Amino acid sequence: MNHAIKLQILEKIEAYDRIMLFRHIRPDGDCVGATRGLREILRQTWPGKTVLLVDPNPPASFAFLGTDDAPVPEADYADALGIVLDTASTDRIANPNYAHCRELIKLDHHIPLTPYGDIAWVEEERASCCEMVVDFWQTFRDRLKISPHAAACLYTGMVTDTGRFRYHEVNGETMRCAAALLDVGVDTDNLFAQLYLESYDVLRFKAHVLGRIQVTEHGVAHLFIDRATQAQFGLSLEQASACVSYMDGIRGCICWIAFIENGDAEGSVRVRLRSRFAPVNSVAEHYRGGGHAFACGATVYGQDEIDALLAEADALVRDYKATHDGWL
Ligand code: AMP
Repeated sequence: MNHAIKLQILEKIEAYDRIMLFRHIRPDGDCVGATRGLREILRQTWPGKTVLLVDPNPPASFAFLGTDDAPVPEADYADALGIVLDTASTDRIANPNYAHCRELIKLDHHIPLTPYGDIAWVEEERASCCEMVVDFWQTFRDRLKISPHAAACLYTGMVTDTGRFRYHEVNGETMRCAAALLDVGVDTDNLFAQLYLESYDVLRFKAHVLGRIQVTEHGVAHLFIDRATQAQFGLSLEQASACVSYMDGIRGCICWIAFIENGDAEGSVRVRLRSRFAPVNSVAEHYRGGGHAFACGATVYGQDEIDALLAEADALVRDYKATHDGWL
C-alpha cells in the first residue's frame, strides 16, 4: 500500500546528507520506538549520513532502548531533511527546530486534523507508527539494513500501541511485521520485563486509586489524579498517567477517562480517553485534543470543563448503548 509515497520518501532520504528526526511531546513507546528504530536503520544503511534525534525533553522511560542525541545549533537544521514520526499536528512536535528543516516528511498513523509536510505518509488504520517503519523497511529490505537493536525499538512500539497485540487495529499485516522483527532477533523476555514490571511505589499507587474510580450514569469510568497524590507516591506525571489502563477491564464501562493535573501555572489537566466499541475521539477534539478513535488525549482547565467533558462522554456512551448490541 502507498508504494509511490514510500518510494518518494526513500529517494528524499537518499538525496540528503543530514536527516533530523522528530517526535511528539510526552512520547510513548510507539513514538520512542519508531524514532530510535528508524534512526538506527538509517545509520546502519548510510554510515556516511548524519542522522540525529533531538528532543528538548528526552523521555526518562525507555532507557533500555538507548538515548536521544545532544542538541545541535539551529543552523544545522537548515540543510536537513526532517522526518516527523507519530505526530498528528505541528503544535505537538517536541523539538520546534523542525521549522528550520529544508523539507519535512510526515510519517504517522493518527487521524490527521491539520495536515503538514512536503510529503505526508499517513495510514490511520495502522495499529502503530512502528508498524509503518517496519513496513517501510520490508518494502525496501534489499536496500535498508536493520539491527537487533532497531528491531527491539520497533517491536516495543508495536507491543505498547496495540496493548500487546490486543486492540482491534491489529490484523494479519501487524503480525507479519512483528514476525519479521522476531526473525531479526528480539529478546522478548527482557523487553516484556522492561515494559511491564512495576515498582512497589507504583503498585501502592494502583491500590490507592483503584478505590477511587468513579462511574457515570451510563458507564464512563473516570479518575482524577491531583499533584498531591503524585507527590505522595513519588510518581512522575508520566507514571501517574498510566492509571488510565487501570480502568480498561470494567464490564459495561465502554469508555474510561483519566484526568491528571499537570501542575503548571495555568492549572491545566491532561486527559487520557480510552474506549472499546464506541469511538471517543470526537470528545477529545472538543477539548483541544485528538488522536485515535479509541485512544485519544485532550487538555482541560478547571472543574467545569472536566464536568462538561464527562457529560459529553456519558451522552456518547448512552447513545451508543441505545443503538448498538454486542457491547460488553
Ligand atoms: P495518550 O493518552 O496521551 O496516550 O494519547 C492517546 C493518543 O492520542 C496518542 O496516540 C497521542 O499521540 C494522541 N493524542 C494525545 N493528546 C493529543 C492531542 N492533544 N492532540 C492530538 N493527539 C493527541
